[in-house]
Amino acid sequence: MKLTTGDLAIFGGVHAFLRPLYVGSPNAVDRDRLFDRLNWALDNQWLSNSGPLAVEFEARTAELAGVRNSVATCNATVALQMLCHALELTGEVIMPSLTFAATAHAARWVGLDPVFVDVDPLSGQLDPALVAEAVGPLTSAILGVHLWGRTCRAPELEKVASDHGLPLFFDAAHAIGCTLGGQPVASFGVASVFSFHPTKVVAGFEGGAIVTDDDALAGRLRSLRNFGLGPGAGSPAGGTNGKMSEAAAAMALTSLDGFERAVAHNRSNFDAYAAGLDRVPGVRLLPHDPSESRNYQYVIVEIDESAAGIDRDLVLRILQGENVMAKPYFSPACHELEPYRSGRTFRLPHTERFAGRVLALPTGTAVSRESIRRICDVLRLVVSRSDEVTSRWQQMKGRPA
Ligand SMILES: *Cc1c(COP(=O)(O)O)cnc(C)c1O
Repeated sequence: MKLTTGDLAIFGGVHAFLRPLYVGSPNAVDRDRLFDRLNWALDNQWLSNSGPLAVEFEARTAELAGVRNSVATCNATVALQMLCHALELTGEVIMPSLTFAATAHAARWVGLDPVFVDVDPLSGQLDPALVAEAVGPLTSAILGVHLWGRTCRAPELEKVASDHGLPLFFDAAHAIGCTLGGQPVASFGVASVFSFHPTKVVAGFEGGAIVTDDDALAGRLRSLRNFGLGPGAGSPAGGTNGKMSEAAAAMALTSLDGFERAVAHNRSNFDAYAAGLDRVPGVRLLPHDPSESRNYQYVIVEIDESAAGIDRDLVLRILQGENVMAKPYFSPACHELEPYRSGRTFRLPHTERFAGRVLALPTGTAVSRESIRRICDVLRLVVSRSDEVTSRWQQMKGRPA
């Protein structure tokens, strides 16, 4: 346990952890089951093109999402692009800026202009009232994002979308298994996209899926995914190769087998952070929402410099020095990134405040409660000695405090 600021690794102390702890380390899977599935696929001599494992994965993800169709893909980014084409969107798509770059870039890649809207100041999720204000003559859709293994206000977004006759779809890359008001959150809107990237709670090496109750849309997506061939063909976009391979499906199915265990582990990790950070001034977990059930994929804290006496960037640097590879998810926000930054200017004060304050802390099955206790010890030390830490850091950088 570190007792003084001199024990911190950035000031020459020993790392709190010998091996780095990451945000998004792959969750543990049952390797025997994985290798059984891979052997089965090799014996079956069917390695891609909607093989039996991919089809099984589609059935299971559709059920989890509470919808009739799941179209498995190579990743979520291509899935979002395919969905933009299948919905025949043009012009502008309203979306939050506080998200991973892939949300905005997927729309941009297919020739659409993201219009960024601010988030709710408490939850950090897209604000439906501001979405309604942002609708204009060029708007062709609303793209909601369920951030951090939590849910955005999907029913209110549905109301805005229907008031304006616009399609609503969701980037649900973080939201597998989440519910809102008891309803699977991926069943809101016309369609939702999951990611099965290795950093996500369910992982397929790479992978994605579009879940939808719209059978005709699912048909068009299946064609777009397979070079624009087969039933559902005829998109002006032609088609692409967006298929999920059997190897990815074998991994994704095996990861899905362990989903409930991973969520329970994450939940217990979350509780350990909540206990360890209780009464640390200026370090706040985002407030609980009783209407949602989450997958606890990310543990997000907000560092309020005025109360903590230390800013997020220095906290991040200190944690990384200790081999705690926290991440500032999502900073910079999309509107602060090229190619959007030098285009239209967006005033997004809550997004910018979150982007300047948030930290995602390591969790997942590779992180234990004991490790979390030690991470919280470091955070408590740096906040209780924030003046000393900040002035030592400034001296080290050769600048007077
Ligand atoms: C990971 C992620 C994506 C991209 O998913 P890929 O499967 O890696 O393409 C999109 N949006 C969000 C919010 C993400 O976190």
